[in-house]
Amino acid sequence: MTNRRAYYNDLLSLAREKRVLHGVNTASFGLAEVRKIYKAEGIRLDYWPLPYKIKALYMCADGDSSVAVQKALPYEPKLFALVHELKHHYRDQEVIGSGMLLCGDYNANELIEKGAEVFAAEFIYPEAEFADDLRAVGIKVWTEDGVVNLKRNCKAKVSYKYLCKRLERLALIPPGKFNGVKFQKLEERMFGVPIHRRRTSRS
Ligand SMILES: [Zn+2]
Repeated sequence: MTNRRAYYNDLLSLAREKRVLHGVNTASFGLAEVRKIYKAEGIRLDYWPLPYKIKALYMCADGDSSVAVQKALPYEPKLFALVHELKHHYRDQEVIGSGMLLCGDYNANELIEKGAEVFAAEFIYPEAEFADDLRAVGIKVWTEDGVVNLKRNCKAKVSYKYLCKRLERLALIPPGKFNGVKFQKLEERMFGVPIHRRRTSRS
């Protein structure tokens, strides 16, 4: 267990270090910015069709690195997946050798995969920064509506799943409190369907 903690702590430091190196600003960090980082790191980005359960994959051979990501992913999960792959690029090339890591299947390479999740979460929105921003919001008891408002006012491009995990980590909600809540649907009930999704609406 200690080793796992140490492994995660090292990845948290790496995430902070790479944020500084690439001049990442939480509020303006998005897909365009992550593509720039890929370019600077010499990682090719592909959009091959991937099996449904695979979010992304990292591949390297003879010093050549590439990532493929599931095209159909919504914006925030896609951003998260691309930063997750960055961790494999920084830390897992030796493990892979000439080969690939398929991401999305957490039974295989459990520690490597969880580590990539820890890295991506910190890289996109460092926990300390999140906690500071949350203190400024001043909410003591979290409700489903409160989470929707948090998401709408959140400066970072993160998903509902991300926000709930963070609230759990900071012990502001019990684990799994909002499991099964359809936040996107709730947001639409509270604020209406966003214009870009209206065309496909069947109502
Ligand atoms: Zn992975």
